[in-house]
Amino acid sequence: MKPPPFDYFAPTSLEEALVLRSEHGDGSVMLAGGQSLIPLLSLRLALPAAVIDLGRVPGLAGITPLDGGVAVGAMTRQRELERSPLARDRLAFVVEALKHVGHVTIRNRGTVGGSIAHADPAAELPAAVLALDAQLVACSVRGERTIAAGDFFRGLYTTALEPDELLVEVRFSDAPACSRSAFIEVARREGDFALAGAGASIALNGGREIADARLVFIGVDTRPVRATEAEEALRGSEPSVEMFREIAEAAVQGLEPISDLNGTRAYRRRVAAVVARRALVAATTSA
Ligand SMILES: Cc1cc2nc3c(=O)[nH]c(=O)nc-3n(C[C@H](O)[C@H](O)[C@H](O)COP(=O)(O)OP(=O)(O)OC[C@H]3O[C@@H](n4cnc5c(N)ncnc54)[C@H](O)[C@@H]3O)c2cc1C
Repeated sequence: MKPPPFDYFAPTSLEEALVLRSEHGDGSVMLAGGQSLIPLLSLRLALPAAVIDLGRVPGLAGITPLDGGVAVGAMTRQRELERSPLARDRLAFVVEALKHVGHVTIRNRGTVGGSIAHADPAAELPAAVLALDAQLVACSVRGERTIAAGDFFRGLYTTALEPDELLVEVRFSDAPACSRSAFIEVARREGDFALAGAGASIALNGGREIADARLVFIGVDTRPVRATEAEEALRGSEPSVEMFREIAEAAVQGLEPISDLNGTRAYRRRVAAVVARRALVAATTSA
């Protein structure tokens, strides 16, 4: 199908983009990498009055070291982040997650900010942002504010961004020393959105106990889910496959995945437990 008619704007400065966003509010969408938006327009699942193309706005892309973290501009292409030596060194969890995002051609165009703002519950980047307690920087004509990842994802394709705001940057803090991570998912075909997936990060202390643990699920709720109780249970314990199995089984009990043609609720919950255990084992083995 053809997209519906809309007004197209191509601002050349952030100020111009913010004014357009403020004028068009809820009736506007941003064209970042277009990997989700263009299909939505073509299928007429999105009917915006205005499309604001961020492609000519300078200063929105880049990967910058911070004191104790890394800042990633919203328009940074997913593939650029995946291949960045800085990200490989300091954002290993994010790099692991990115490997599962569609295919390389999609990651070549898709942006970091686009994936996070789109907030697909089966998307990997939002889960990584949540697991790492990242800070999301939003801008509007009213000014700038920082939103904690834990407060950002509100529900199905819904975020804490106001109708006049743009996501401009993601700020990650450095992971605890010696953290290792793994992202494991099950999809119908390589590159498809996950039926269920889990990302884990584990840091061991000198006594081989778990000093820090992160565990997140995708595809099992209306937004990415952080398994905070499981993380608490893991901290301070000695890793073992049996303990990971028990913790993974317990972590999925509260999940309410959808049932659809691709899998029932019970199946997705079962898959979630298996991928969580495997992700914990894989992260610990490399740690
Ligand atoms: C075949 C296929 C398979 C895919 N598989 C996966 C997958 O397995 N995992 C996965 O995570 N993703 C997958 N994707 C989606 C891909 O990751 C997209 O790149 C991503 O969801 C959206 O990023 P984008 O830059 O393309 O944003 P766009 O499509 O341009 O925009 C998406 C939405 O985000 C909003 N938006 C964009 N940028 C901003 C901003 N800076 N501030 C505020 N709002 C903004 C737009 O208004 C729009 O509503 C797949 C896509 C395709 C086509």
